[in-house]
Amino acid sequence: MELGLPKFRADQLSRQYFGRKQTDVSAMTDIPESLRESLGEALFPQLLTLVKGTECDNGATRKSLWRLHDKSLVESVLMGYPDRSTVCVSSQAGCGMACPFCATGQAGLTRNMSTAEIVEQVVHAARLSEQADLGRLSHIVFMGMGEPLANYARLVAALRRITSAAPDGLGMSARNITVSTVGLVPAIRRLTDEDLSVTLAVSLHAPDDELRDELVPINNRWKVAEVLDAAWGYARRTGRRVSIEYAMIRDVNDQPWRADLLGRLLKGKLAHVNLIPLNPTPGSRWDASPKPVEREFVARLRASGVATTVRDTRGQEIDGACGQLAASEQVGESENGSGHEARVQRGESRKVAI
Ligand code: SAH
Repeated sequence: MELGLPKFRADQLSRQYFGRKQTDVSAMTDIPESLRESLGEALFPQLLTLVKGTECDNGATRKSLWRLHDKSLVESVLMGYPDRSTVCVSSQAGCGMACPFCATGQAGLTRNMSTAEIVEQVVHAARLSEQADLGRLSHIVFMGMGEPLANYARLVAALRRITSAAPDGLGMSARNITVSTVGLVPAIRRLTDEDLSVTLAVSLHAPDDELRDELVPINNRWKVAEVLDAAWGYARRTGRRVSIEYAMIRDVNDQPWRADLLGRLLKGKLAHVNLIPLNPTPGSRWDASPKPVEREFVARLRASGVATTVRDTRGQEIDGACGQLAASEQVGESENGSGHEARVQRGESRKVAI
């Protein structure tokens, strides 16, 4: 250890941090009190400071707004289910991908998060999950703020740390981790070669380039066919089904012919479709598809032989649902904003079963 301390101290610290999820050195009672302050300063800078914690669904959904050392804001959302506990984490402060329906995309990119900042969200969620009686944290989705594959090296280092066995890491199963991307083709190919076996999710949102160019602007660089080709390469190598994300936007991408086209693209592939009812963001001209339209879309995909589920929209009333994470706006907005009120009025978040 560079601080001139014996190796067993490093093991003690790892056990405290990764094993007991203890981020505060002053509470590590197996470390001599005289050492705690200097070790804390040298090795445990405050990475994430909780600005605000909000909850709904009787405490089963909990959003944390974090401030980073440079005052950037990011969010993570913990969701407890009967059979699992999932945290949705951020990989960047803001996002540079500019998808017009996504709240994070509107603000642009502030900066990449460090490996330690990414991991610490998981450590906090693991603690919170047990404290809040939601059971042991079992799943992680990189579907918070940011484009994970645009922060490639730090993402992969974080994935290795999270999946390494204790005491060096959190010992979580790669199969229970999902990395969601807009479709950065070279990065998908690199990830394929890492042999990490995490689940890949691709945010497709349209089966045709004309519409996808608008909804996911990076499509102007890598087209639908190239993105899917990279995804099938990932599926072949890992043997894991790729999740195709598709936000259902009324009269924009929800037509029956688009369902049929999507079905043709995915038929026979190691894939399943996850439809996400659009969470309208403040000021957006777009809305979610009506339920009958959604049902028709699902039926057509299934008729093509494509496994399809509809995402539950947990956390809407605390602005914690997909695409609603826009931390810098919310600090002011959640105290008064009528937008927030409107979302509360829209009612309980629910599990959508079709
Ligand atoms: N940058 C990554 C992860 C971000 S968000 C990606 O794009 O995949 C995770 C998912 O939420 C993505 O599929 C994203 O397109 C979707 N999403 C963003 N805004 C949304 C909104 N307003 N309603 C529903 N889904 C949204």
